Amino acid sequence: MTQNAIDEEVPVLIVGGSLVGLTTAVFLGLHGIQATAIERHPGTAIHPRAGHLQLRTLEIMRAAGLEAELQRLSAERYFPNGGINLMHTIAGGEVASFIPDLNQGVEEFSPSRRLFVAQDAIEPLLRARAEELGAVLHYRSEVVDLREDATGVTATIRDLETGAERRIRAQYVVAADGNRSPTRTRLGIGMGGYGALSNSATIYFRADCRELLAGTEFGVIYADNEHLRGFFRFERSLTGGFLAVNTLGDPTRPGALDVTAGLDTKGAADLVRAAIGDPSVEVEVDEVAAWVAAAEVADRFQAGRILIAGDAAHVVPPNGGFGGNTGIQDAHNLAWKLAAVLRHGAGPALLASYDTERRPVGRLTVEQAYSRYRHRVTPELMDDEVPALVDDFSMEIGYRYHSSAVLPDAGDDSAAVVGHPRDAGGAPGTRAPHVWVSSGVSTLDLFGPGFALIRGRDAAEWDTATETVVHELGVAVRPEPADADVAAAYGIGGTGASLVRPDGFVAWRCAELPDEPAGALREALGRVLDLGSVED
Ligand SMILES: Cc1cc2nc3c(=O)[nH]c(=O)nc-3n(C[C@H](O)[C@H](O)[C@H](O)COP(=O)(O)OP(=O)(O)OC[C@H]3O[C@@H](n4cnc5c(N)ncnc54)[C@H](O)[C@@H]3O)c2cc1C
Repeated sequence: MTQNAIDEEVPVLIVGGSLVGLTTAVFLGLHGIQATAIERHPGTAIHPRAGHLQLRTLEIMRAAGLEAELQRLSAERYFPNGGINLMHTIAGGEVASFIPDLNQGVEEFSPSRRLFVAQDAIEPLLRARAEELGAVLHYRSEVVDLREDATGVTATIRDLETGAERRIRAQYVVAADGNRSPTRTRLGIGMGGYGALSNSATIYFRADCRELLAGTEFGVIYADNEHLRGFFRFERSLTGGFLAVNTLGDPTRPGALDVTAGLDTKGAADLVRAAIGDPSVEVEVDEVAAWVAAAEVADRFQAGRILIAGDAAHVVPPNGGFGGNTGIQDAHNLAWKLAAVLRHGAGPALLASYDTERRPVGRLTVEQAYSRYRHRVTPELMDDEVPALVDDFSMEIGYRYHSSAVLPDAGDDSAAVVGHPRDAGGAPGTRAPHVWVSSGVSTLDLFGPGFALIRGRDAAEWDTATETVVHELGVAVRPEPADADVAAAYGIGGTGASLVRPDGFVAWRCAELPDEPAGALREALGRVLDLGSVED
């Protein structure tokens, strides 16, 4: 390939412009990198799919300036705080509750609240925000080839309207191209885990269940009867939504795991009727989507200059609602690292930390989604291999990173990938704790796009040190004086400091003021960003 054949040069090319591709574009934009995304479809998602947004996702969307709009959209279409329960049929009523109130206890840990909002409503928001931040999105276009060499990646893009091809040269590529990721296949990256669990179907329907569900405010209703196992997500109107069907009744029955075989609109309507359990309710099916419920994680998240994210990197059954949320966290973790490499000369170890940090979280998430699937959908197939359940707070905001981009406290040799946020104590590698600092402003609002240095109120020396280091390294760091509550939450004394990364994870901390604060900060940043040997 000669240089002449290149039509355009870009810093980052994103393959796939769905939930994770768009989130990557938004955060690259916030970090000052103009992303280019290529998407096969003519526009953003047409199906609701991802809908249960977890705490960390809302915190991430808060950082992108989208939380309030998501709350508004959610309130329009779904019940706030809706629980997750089990019914044999809608007509039969509740038989068990998995989660009585979606937001029970969240105030202790987060400024945000979990909510339901459909993917077809989230994606246009992300798209508009990404474009506002300078991203260029090409729809009805497909990446048909990727070639990496020592200095970049050459992508061949086909216009699906005209068939015309052009070549884009990118310094880095993020493949957010979904669970069948052509990029992952092209790179020969394998998947490991529990494999396929069932051939599932999502049935989008209209059916007036207002009378049957009067007075209830459920977010997700699991349905379990002799005909099927799966879950409903009703819209607030209670006149429609979708039913995801995982098995045709008891999963040990022959053929039960192949829901989609021969499934037509009539068969789909019969399934919805069977799950509603009241023959007088009329059912109209809008669409049926077939998908494979699987639990797998990729063997690598990085191959040179190409990084994979979202469903391309891990596929989970929808139980627990982890899929899209985990992908959004991938994007959030990756975007600032790419920007630091492209804008601030950060070294390869920083980029490699994407795999080191996110793959264990991906594996944990696959295990936990699998476990929730077994518990809620196919308990007959439980065995000793099914991992013990980890609680939702730990899963959402308690995962912990161990990599070159985290400098543990002296003597801290924990390798745990997850812990309860109450026990995190501001340790390096954990999500920086939420504390209200003023009305409506959380510590979490102090993070990104640069680093933040939370410092004890008795040590203004940190401010001078920060100024010196920012001037030398050209990396943005904002000192943030902390009151006693914040200092306690971050595990620092009145003269200590905690360095928080642009993704809101603690990189390093120092309990008390060292002899040379500028030297200590410079060394910490140099190690986290892999800036090579930084002279004092
Ligand atoms: C029934 C159901 C319920 C779910 N509920 C939830 C939930 O409550 N919470 C949650 O977090 N998740 C949920 N999920 C999962 C969620 O939908 C996915 O995890 C999420 O869509 C993954 O986003 P992604 O961007 O990684 O991949 P995708 O959404 O699959 O997007 C990949 C994109 O890449 C494009 N693409 C692929 N190859 C190319 C190429 N060569 N060139 C250009 N474009 C390409 C595709 O067109 C596609 O748009 C649910 C899924 C299902 C099926």
